[in-house]
Amino acid sequence: MSALFPALAAPSDRPALRCGTDTLTYEELARAARALAARIGDAGRVAVWAAPTAHTAVAVVGALLAGVPAVPLNPRTGERELAHILGDSKPSAVLTGPDDVLPAGLAGLPRIAVDLGAVGPPVVEPADAESTALIVYTSGTTGPPKGVLLSRRAIAASLDALAEAWSWTADDVLVHALPLFHVHGLILGVLGPLRRGGEVRHLGAFSVEGVARELGGAGGGTMLFGVPTMYHRLADALAGDAGLAAALRRARLLVSGSAALPVHDHERIAAATGRTVVERYGMTETLMNTSVLPGGEPRPGTVGVPLAGVELRLVDEDGSVLAGLDGETVGEVQVRGPQLFSGYLNRPDATAAALDGDWFRTGDMAVLEADGTVRLVGRKATDLIKSGGYKIGAGEIENALLDHPGVREAAVTGEPDPDLGERIVAWVVPEDAEKPPSDAELADHVARLLAPHKRPRSVRYLDALPRNEMGKILKKALPGAG
Ligand code: ATP
Ligand code: MG
Repeated sequence: MSALFPALAAPSDRPALRCGTDTLTYEELARAARALAARIGDAGRVAVWAAPTAHTAVAVVGALLAGVPAVPLNPRTGERELAHILGDSKPSAVLTGPDDVLPAGLAGLPRIAVDLGAVGPPVVEPADAESTALIVYTSGTTGPPKGVLLSRRAIAASLDALAEAWSWTADDVLVHALPLFHVHGLILGVLGPLRRGGEVRHLGAFSVEGVARELGGAGGGTMLFGVPTMYHRLADALAGDAGLAAALRRARLLVSGSAALPVHDHERIAAATGRTVVERYGMTETLMNTSVLPGGEPRPGTVGVPLAGVELRLVDEDGSVLAGLDGETVGEVQVRGPQLFSGYLNRPDATAAALDGDWFRTGDMAVLEADGTVRLVGRKATDLIKSGGYKIGAGEIENALLDHPGVREAAVTGEPDPDLGERIVAWVVPEDAEKPPSDAELADHVARLLAPHKRPRSVRYLDALPRNEMGKILKKALPGAG
């Protein structure tokens, strides 16, 4: 396999990375990463303290050059999750920035501090395409996080398929504000631009002002990658901010992923900017599966078509492949292709359970529209409600609720019901806590937009929905939900 980072083999003085006040050209990145690779040596595995800094990018590239699998750690992770990940992945050292303060759980591990100014001699990137480059832990939305073994082959295949779909080149400048310990922020957001030979500018933390400042203009950002909560905040801010609308319009590509972008937010952004947010769908285990193709008809609520090299099918509950393409029949998404993981670390049982031959069972439910466009309806485990003989996806009810002016956030779950099998429960964060819309009003609103059997039977009001740092709603953490 060719190098993951051709631009690092013969580095130039083109900008590679900017994060806060740290900037690195390809030459500087190559030197620092090579120097680090020499210090990593032949460690079995290294953890990376994945703060949103330039050091994290250099750490991961250094480990890749050394041919040593890297395990990115969430710097805000709790003690228990950290202990789980360290116990499972058994790294022999942790790569950090010079100023990072590490928790007690990492005290026993030798620490290698990244030096951005170090100079190392050229090294040849390891060529074994099947070797594990990264071990990325899943978000833990549905259970304890699992370590996903990602090969250089999978990473290269997925990044190249995205580049094809998005016409992503060395001229692109990515504006980035996501955490760096998941696929979205690290593989797409950092390794993606570096593989293309383009630039990434990380904001350190998301802010509406930061996005407005960095996008567009001469030498400004051409692309923005975000999660739905970021686009929600941008949509809120757009109401009174013509400068922000102009900045979003100057970007070539606005991409959302990691969770569904509510139709309401799609519409608000389109109305204020004339631009369509491009949704893509992926997972830690499969990297990217589908994307909306820029420039097409906007179809909020869909995640586009399979990327180059990705095969996708729907399977019913008995495991039979659905003919699909009717826009109605719901099945579980299975995918195969060169972008797939090599298995879960230490979990042959979970790996076997996740595979159907060489197809990966995503656990996500979808319908396929006539032209092959994928419309996700939710996760099999938490978002599919069986009520009154119907199979109902939580997502469309959530979208309908968000369409109500009195609803700020919404999540829908099913609860056991002696009569219906399951009853639809809506969890709502009202716009105005003093004057929330009534249960009956919300139920009628949903029944009017969708169908009577999709109306929530009860509505529970909360101050906020439980979410992880990617903004994913943690339905298992809803009060009293199991
Ligand atoms: P765990 O596997 O530990 O329960 P997780 O599945 O949330 O956590 P990830 O691999 O980070 O961990 O997330 C993948 C999931 O995110 C997908 O299976 C899908 O449910 C969801 N997802 C990703 N992109 C989108 C999208 N554009 N629209 C809707 N859902 C999405
Ligand atoms: Mg998952």
